[in-house]
Amino acid sequence: MLPPAKNDRIITHLPKCFSPRAALHTKDVFHPDVKAACRDHREDAVSFNVAKVIVVGDVSVGKTCLVSRFCRGAFDRNYKATIGVDFQMERFEVLGVPFSLQLWDTAGQERFKCIASTYYRGAQAIIVVFDLSRASSLVHARQWLEDAMRENDPSSVLLFLVGTKKDLSSPELLADVEQEAIRLSEEIRAEYWAVSAKSGDGITDFFLRVASLTFEANVLSELEKGSSRSAGDIIKITSSKEDKRRLARRKSNCC
Ligand code: GDP
Ligand code: MG
Repeated sequence: MLPPAKNDRIITHLPKCFSPRAALHTKDVFHPDVKAACRDHREDAVSFNVAKVIVVGDVSVGKTCLVSRFCRGAFDRNYKATIGVDFQMERFEVLGVPFSLQLWDTAGQERFKCIASTYYRGAQAIIVVFDLSRASSLVHARQWLEDAMRENDPSSVLLFLVGTKKDLSSPELLADVEQEAIRLSEEIRAEYWAVSAKSGDGITDFFLRVASLTFEANVLSELEKGSSRSAGDIIKITSSKEDKRRLARRKSNCC
């Protein structure tokens, strides 16, 4: 039996986007169908939904610090993802339904452009990370995205473009880089965020937003599948039995 989500991971309202100019959507409430499905079938949701989220970007842009700041609640410059452990599982509760993000941090693979496609495959969200204090990492963001998208269905993946190390940026530099990042986000249809793992600025808000939007997309996709099945079917917002068994076998290295 998995422990319940911590209090700060209980989501009852859709968290705000970072910048309305580069947001996946700017509505301030969850989709009404998602709210209704959660309300009506909450008792059915005895297990949890899970979404695979991959984190990509140049070496040293701050991917591991970004993930570990959220998972461990601290800026740990020496923290290294354990070799052989492929993801961290973070639990949430969204609209009363247990939901988890499987956060896949690249553990050194970013040095080799030919990353195993299994790493990318089946992602519900892709977080492309760049360093706000190093403009070249933003230039490379597009290539990272293209590599990751090759293994996924572009119509069903949510994209986030995240600038890290905000604490290192002067307001003038930040304004310049942000302008470029927002332009790229609009073009690739990503949601833009600027954060700092060092100060913690924006980290929790960002991951709550990722959890909320992937959850919303998952439930909407289940509802869509449900409506194309026979009319009397009950819409299930839980994961399949096989998913549950598989996840139970693959005990996460959750922090
Ligand atoms: P990765 O290779 O993309 O996983 O990058 P890391 O997370 O290992 O971080 C690379 C370096 O950037 C480390 O020295 C971190 O201490 C530093 N770093 C990461 N995030 C931040 C941040 O938000 N602010 C500052 N000042 N340094 C950071
Ligand atoms: Mg790393």
